[in-house]
Amino acid sequence: MKTLVWLQRELRTQHHPALEAAFAESKDIIVAYFHDPKQTIGAANTVWLAKSLNQLQQDFKTRNGRLWCLEGNFEQQLEELIQAYDIQQIFYTFQLGHPFKAMQQQALSVSRRLKVHLRAFQTENWLPYDQLLNQSGRPYKVFTPFYNRLSQRLTELTPLSAPKETLEKTAVTVCQTQHDQQLSPSLAKLLTHPWAQKVMHHWQVGEQQAWSKLEAFITDALASYDHDRDFPAIEGTSQLSPHLQFGEIHSRAIVFELLALETESNMSNQAIRVWLRQLAWREFARAILWHFPQTETHPFQAKFEGFYRPLSEDDSEQSKIYQAWCEGRTGVPIIDAGMEQLWQTGWMHNRVRMLVASWLTKNADIDWRAGARWFNETLVDADPANNTLGWQWVAGCGVDAAPYYRLFNPVRQSEKFDTNGTYLRQWLPDFRQYDDKHIHAPWQGMSAEKCCYPIIDLAESRQYHLEKVAELKSSSQTH
Ligand code: FAD
Repeated sequence: MKTLVWLQRELRTQHHPALEAAFAESKDIIVAYFHDPKQTIGAANTVWLAKSLNQLQQDFKTRNGRLWCLEGNFEQQLEELIQAYDIQQIFYTFQLGHPFKAMQQQALSVSRRLKVHLRAFQTENWLPYDQLLNQSGRPYKVFTPFYNRLSQRLTELTPLSAPKETLEKTAVTVCQTQHDQQLSPSLAKLLTHPWAQKVMHHWQVGEQQAWSKLEAFITDALASYDHDRDFPAIEGTSQLSPHLQFGEIHSRAIVFELLALETESNMSNQAIRVWLRQLAWREFARAILWHFPQTETHPFQAKFEGFYRPLSEDDSEQSKIYQAWCEGRTGVPIIDAGMEQLWQTGWMHNRVRMLVASWLTKNADIDWRAGARWFNETLVDADPANNTLGWQWVAGCGVDAAPYYRLFNPVRQSEKFDTNGTYLRQWLPDFRQYDDKHIHAPWQGMSAEKCCYPIIDLAESRQYHLEKVAELKSSSQTH
């Protein structure tokens, strides 16, 4: 029996139920990643993908295995592979959202056409989505009760098996095109692009690196995470998000590490639970996208459809504002610093993500989907579930959203969470000239020629937003 293990976002060799099932059932296994340039998340994410696949190919090789990397139209590539190598069954791990949903549908139609058995493993989550429901048997729409229930049930999590010593069974069949030894052409080329190199200079990819990063975070930062996580100048969070997005590390494996830490270490259980709770936001985002798949493209609260102005090429003023936001030229230092961090590193601190999303939607009145698109292009950790939840949370149109009358004041936030301007100075060299007092809002209390002004007046736009909200509220009450 020849089995194909089709990889999507489980780029690791261990804790991999689909791969393990193939090992149990087959003597001849092909493990393949299909890169379809028309079905990707975005540029930065694809750069990480290329590096991660490259690393995984080496990891397979080191353990006497092979990982194939094919490129082209997914449906066609899959069909050709099945026919050329006489594959009888395909195992894959279920993934949510774009582009995985469409690709899984395509795999289903190919397997039906060629009469090949297709088996999906829903194993990336902590508990199956339809088993974590509220007392009325409905999905949770608010995080805290979701988390309370989830944390009571952590003992039910299915353990993950120990790593395999050899991956020989994945090297029985030799690939005719050499793509078990190297990356597909466009991914290999992408890695030579200057922007890709600049972004990846900040990261070390792969399964081993993910585990080292987890260990370092636990040793150095977990105990102070609760305090440090809000300050963008401090490296107080794990920065594991891209590793998790690519499945270089299984989030359930992290839970087991944390539970062991609770019993075996001197660290306070409360400190451990604070981070576990944050990880659970990822589970919540997945559960929401599973139960409400339409939210990837539409607000969860339907009354918000059309509330923010959609991005329109005909509106040159709006296009300029959007472009300025993308390029970090809004004139509000904390917003511009965040967008610069994103462009330089493919990552942005969570608090600053909230602020830049709030500025785009609530101050610039631009639809959250335009912001989510730019994040998809530029974040190495761009993730359909987390990105959708994050944007709708800030825009106030999702589940468990910040009340829509709540608006971040980016200047106050900057003063509070980057008091000494360390983060601002790191990402905005031109702002090093300002002292700690003025750096958060140089236009306040300085002479006109010495400073820059925000392209949107924060107070006026706030007022405009509040009026729109009041209108929405009264019209939804009358309907
Ligand atoms: P840590 O604080 O160390 O947390 C550990 C892990 O928990 C993270 O890696 C992540 O997987 C998960 N997590 C933490 N916070 C959240 C959260 N609020 N929602 C969901 N999961 C969370 N995260 C992404 O992974 N991909 C995205 O595309 C993404 N887009 C976002 C867009 C907006 C507008 C906002 C406000 C947030 C977004 N987030 C996204 C969530 C969050 O900002 C990142 O997960 C976090 O900053 C990653 O840093 P970290 O790994 O150091 O997190």
